Amino acid sequence: MRELIRVNSLEEALGKKGAYLAGGTEILRLDSPLDKAISVIDILPFLSKEVEDEGDWIRIGAGCTFSSLLSSALIPSFLKEALSYMSSPELREMATIGGNIASFRDDSFLIPTLASAYARLEVLLPGGKECIPLSSFKRDGGIILSITVSKTADVKNFRESLTSHSHAVVTAAFSSECECYAVKGSGIFFDHDSLSFASDMYGSAEYKRYLSELYRSESGRS
Ligand SMILES: Cc1cc2nc3c(=O)[nH]c(=O)nc-3n(C[C@H](O)[C@H](O)[C@H](O)COP(=O)(O)OP(=O)(O)OC[C@H]3O[C@@H](n4cnc5c(N)ncnc54)[C@H](O)[C@@H]3O)c2cc1C
Repeated sequence: MRELIRVNSLEEALGKKGAYLAGGTEILRLDSPLDKAISVIDILPFLSKEVEDEGDWIRIGAGCTFSSLLSSALIPSFLKEALSYMSSPELREMATIGGNIASFRDDSFLIPTLASAYARLEVLLPGGKECIPLSSFKRDGGIILSITVSKTADVKNFRESLTSHSHAVVTAAFSSECECYAVKGSGIFFDHDSLSFASDMYGSAEYKRYLSELYRSESGRS
């Protein structure tokens, strides 16, 4: 049986040993690679569920669910496109944007799009709050409080999966100054030069390389 830890604040959560519980769709998933014995610390009550308009930018509370963002008039269409990659309505109701980033999956629905929209994270660390680029975030690197993205970025999204419910082989997004790739079996890459590919049940390394290059050229980058 797993221990559920309740806290009175995010600061208290930071001092506890365990994984954070937001929507729970990754941490409680049966075949999640995350440690199944580890305690879970319920942080959802303390996460912001607000979306704030800041001119050319929007600030999204880490506790916003996929479905709340899909129904918000403030969310730009390029981000709604990425949010809709999560095809299950049940998961959309529970899964949070903060949990999606922190999961840092190699088939991430949102990280390529958010990175290409120049996302910055407000993160709570033992020493206080810090604002960092999404590309600097590391798993277990504090509690994500909010995500700020450009509303006006010219983001182009690309994704290949066998069916709408299947894991993506390569997800990528491009804007005039950023590019980001999530490559199944290899990880997340914030630039083209560091890309690497491995063969697995989702496709050969050559296939994944082909998709990445195709997306790049279709985005007008090469
Ligand atoms: C059938 C199925 C298929 C899925 N397919 C995909 C997929 O293709 N791509 C994909 O990206 N995801 C996928 N997921 C995983 C998951 O649904 C999403 O990544 C979701 O957005 C995770 O958010 P959550 O709020 O449920 O996170 P949780 O499960 O609550 O937490 C996940 C992780 O994030 C950490 N965390 C949560 N919130 C924060 C925070 N604010 N600050 C710091 N750390 C935090 C936790 O410690 C934990 O390690 C799938 C899940 C299921 C059940």
